[in-house]
Amino acid sequence: MKLTDSVQFLKGVGPKSVENFHKLGIFTVQDLLLYFPFRYEDFAGRSVLELLDGEKATIIGKVVTPANVQYYGFKRNRLSFKIKQDEAVVAVSFFNQPYLADKVEVGQEIAVYGKWERAKQQLLGVKVVGQLDPAVDATSSARLEPVYHLTAGMKQSTLVKVIQQVFDSGLLAELSENLPEFLLTKYRLMGRQEAVRAMHFPEDMAAHKQALRRVKFEELFMFQLKLQALKHKEKSGRAGLQVEFDEREVEDKIFELPFELTGAQKRALDEILVDMKSSYHMNRLLQGDVGSGKTVVASLAMYAACLANFQAAIMVPTEILARQHYANLRQLFPELKISLLVSGLKAAQRRDILADLASGHTHMVVGTHALIQDGVDFYNLGLVITDEQHRFGVNQRKILREKGQNPDVLMMTATPIPRTLAITAFGDMDVSIIDELPKGRQPITTRWVKHEQFSEVLAWIKKELSQGAQDDSTPQVYFVSPLIEESEALDLKNAEALYSELTDYFGLFAQIGLLHGKMKNDEKDQIMQDFKAKKLDILVSTTVIEVGVDVPNATIMVIMDADRFGLSQLHQLRGRVGRGSKKSYTILVANPKSDSGKQRMKIMCETQNGFVLAEEDLKMRGSGEIFGVRQSGLPEFIAADLVNDYNILEVARQEAVEIFKHADDFKALIAQVSVDGGFD
Ligand code: ADP
Ligand code: MG
Repeated sequence: MKLTDSVQFLKGVGPKSVENFHKLGIFTVQDLLLYFPFRYEDFAGRSVLELLDGEKATIIGKVVTPANVQYYGFKRNRLSFKIKQDEAVVAVSFFNQPYLADKVEVGQEIAVYGKWERAKQQLLGVKVVGQLDPAVDATSSARLEPVYHLTAGMKQSTLVKVIQQVFDSGLLAELSENLPEFLLTKYRLMGRQEAVRAMHFPEDMAAHKQALRRVKFEELFMFQLKLQALKHKEKSGRAGLQVEFDEREVEDKIFELPFELTGAQKRALDEILVDMKSSYHMNRLLQGDVGSGKTVVASLAMYAACLANFQAAIMVPTEILARQHYANLRQLFPELKISLLVSGLKAAQRRDILADLASGHTHMVVGTHALIQDGVDFYNLGLVITDEQHRFGVNQRKILREKGQNPDVLMMTATPIPRTLAITAFGDMDVSIIDELPKGRQPITTRWVKHEQFSEVLAWIKKELSQGAQDDSTPQVYFVSPLIEESEALDLKNAEALYSELTDYFGLFAQIGLLHGKMKNDEKDQIMQDFKAKKLDILVSTTVIEVGVDVPNATIMVIMDADRFGLSQLHQLRGRVGRGSKKSYTILVANPKSDSGKQRMKIMCETQNGFVLAEEDLKMRGSGEIFGVRQSGLPEFIAADLVNDYNILEVARQEAVEIFKHADDFKALIAQVSVDGGFD
């Protein structure tokens, strides 16, 4: 028998159970060996003195009375005997297992697993774990039994037996070491065979810990190796576009901007332009906190592509954001033909836009998901940008990319990605970071108030509005409500109700607008324009304004039922203010019921640092939940955990990078990681 043989050749595995094994992803004997338990039943002997009432444990002691079986009723019986552990005498009872009497012999050591009943000083036996030769140290029977995830119709004991069979057959000897020797030595890792054995049947918890450490390292190292392989393939293999443009023209454009770029913006732009100019295929993530000014960097990169006679496209998650970018680009580049492609256009209009894109008349296009539909063809797409990339799935980004001939790719994210995820999900990309806000920004003050205090908030805003009116510095205010339709069940203040409440309250003091997802495109457009043009003082909105929206004069953000939002969403919403030089405020209105809700409100008040918030979010929600990582195609880890095993992850990454520096010496190792699929 070989490791690559199907599990169906193992004893006790019939056609029915083969199906069950397949459901668990176990096809070969090797798969079975690598199917690790998720916990262990602890059958190590314990002292009765330390057991809590009701606790399940194994106790080891010397049998002091013969087994006595008492029958009562139909087929019911109880076996009892006494054992002595140090000075304690303990009663042991088993129900309906009379045959165990054979195992109980006065004078012998016995290990019994069961439930401790403290008041009666009695162990309610579940099973006899072992009978011991009194000559041997009692602790030698200490053992941990593996517990595996199962599917319906499968039994723990069957799985354990089948795995035991594989170990008994000696097949483990054929499992080859897949980590380089020097790493095993350097990090004092268990060998692979030893680790696999100790994962299933550890001698003790210490051995299990060592095995787990090795298995986690292996998992994360192989993953990082694969990311490195992908990165190197990108760099060497498929040549990217060489975009020839005149830097001086870009410089001139920068000079025309109404502000000076921050150092971080300049650095990021340089990195992007170098990539574009080289024949290397750009695959870059531009990461920068809300309000750090990513848009202008992206716009200049698009400009460079156009200078080299390529088309550039930027895809954004919401129509409001698309319109905003469109207006920006038109203002920055009046000499270029720029199109806006969103859904709900009139047929003729859409036809014209598509024709101009296909013929190359259009230089730049801004769009929503409408960009990736069939029938949208480009003449020569040279640069593809996704803004708020985490809002798109892997496939959507891929479709856009494939509308060009291997165009340069830039992904932008306003949601900072925790270090942990940045080096995993995006380990195959180059990263530029804008870690500096434009000059003159002030910290945003964040307050958490209860619903009972809402009227005070309103009074304060009224005061701010009327004071501002006198010196013409009227602040603009967002009110965000989570839902648009009344939902009694959720008890949310909906946007419409809030709108009418505020209209009543402010009366002539304020012009108020309402924005929600169900409005028609031109209505949304009109409202946003009015707000930007300061025709409105207050904008009541659902979360459609969550990402990207940029109205620098708005300085107050009120979030209703704030505890219903996750941290990253709250951070995004807060990022709608504090975009100019004026002092800004965020008010969280919430009566959270859960501890985690309270926790989120507190964290929001304590920090404005997006990275800190993202790390907190990751801790609270787990890596699978956050930032669309599910969609990013991140593999599932069996033993490792991205949050808790960050240290191992970092080491694994460094080692993988080192391996690729000496790739010729590690050909066999590198060949183990297939790079056909990739993660994106
Ligand atoms: P984000 O990174 O969140 O997408 P934006 O690109 O929307 O941020 O920029 C936020 C605001 O800051 C915009 O109003 C933009 O015009 C302004 N801005 C960008 N860069 C600078 C700068 N270097 N100096 C001053 N203001 C800037
Ligand atoms: Mg943005």
